[in-house]
Amino acid sequence: MESARETGQFELWLAAWVGALLDEMSVSNNSGTPGAKRSTALTVDDYVAGVLAGDRGILSRAITLIESQAPRHEEQAQEMLQRLLPRTGGAKRIGITGVPGVGKSTFIETFGCRLVERGHRTAVLTIDPSSIRSGGSILGDKTRMEKLSREPHAFIRPSPAGGAPGGVARRTRETMLVCEAAGFDTIIVESVGVGQGEVALRSMVDFYLLLQLPGAGDELQGIKKGIVELVDMVLINKAEGENRLRAELARAEQEAALHYTNAATPEWRTEVALCSALTGEGIDHAWERIEHFYASLQLKGVIAERRRQQTLDWLDEVLRDELRKRMLSDPRLPALQQAVLSGQMTVAAAARKFFEPL
Ligand code: GDP
Repeated sequence: MESARETGQFELWLAAWVGALLDEMSVSNNSGTPGAKRSTALTVDDYVAGVLAGDRGILSRAITLIESQAPRHEEQAQEMLQRLLPRTGGAKRIGITGVPGVGKSTFIETFGCRLVERGHRTAVLTIDPSSIRSGGSILGDKTRMEKLSREPHAFIRPSPAGGAPGGVARRTRETMLVCEAAGFDTIIVESVGVGQGEVALRSMVDFYLLLQLPGAGDELQGIKKGIVELVDMVLINKAEGENRLRAELARAEQEAALHYTNAATPEWRTEVALCSALTGEGIDHAWERIEHFYASLQLKGVIAERRRQQTLDWLDEVLRDELRKRMLSDPRLPALQQAVLSGQMTVAAAARKFFEPL
């Protein structure tokens, strides 16, 4: 049994990997990008021109550049982002979370296809700090959202494996910016890992959606109470057929619980609604709510303020990481640690000494 499941997983992984590779190699012919080259190293000019022309092959490679941890690539990636920056910010940024099995990828498949039908260009990204542990199982996403991945106006990018959790969030944020510069007007970011990812996701999206199962108590949902306070809408999924009644009960329970929590977004009431990702029921309603969210809150400046705060928080996070890295590699640190351990110095005095000018 076990080995059959492993083989299945491997096939999924292989199919997704081949798909991603093909995407990266396919430099589309009609993009008219002058510098487009097949599989050879691209210059920053090539990346910028390709991304702005909406060339999927180059977009894929630009994201690979962002994901690379090689210092040379990091430098190139930053230069590219700097140049793309004026063309970013134009998309609706939507986050989706929920326990594994709740139906996130089924939902995104149905929801994404509807958006494409309505003329939207939709990118789907995943944030998955746990992929460090699971080693890329999420690559299966590409096959999970089979129909959507075949849509020319949709772009699905599985989460990269590896790196520190902070790095995963940074890369997702930067990938989102590149997708915006490539002309995607709706970006869906799915939190796959349970835990850090779902909180990190709040810090990079405008609208945050939580999918829940019908009829299960909080414990079964595996969801910490806190997450409900972070989201802008709760959707009880799988609310069709004989699940319907249980879904109604779950909605009533959830609504009552929300009564006592603070709203995640000023001037917005978190709604609990039902849907079925399988039949498509309730999916249009979710999109209407999202459109209403933007229409009403953009006017009030709430979304701009959220993004401004997210950018400042991001800078703060990067500065903290950098400071920490520098402090830990400071040659004066071991002597101060020793002094604290031997009781020669208090912790506060050692910290003060550390920051004294040399
Ligand atoms: P994820 O782990 O959250 O991405 O969940 P999946 O999208 O992989 O769905 C998990 C299982 O639930 C799959 O077998 C889906 O077919 C099923 N599923 C998803 N949405 C629905 C729904 O609306 N109704 C029913 N009955 N099953 C669903």
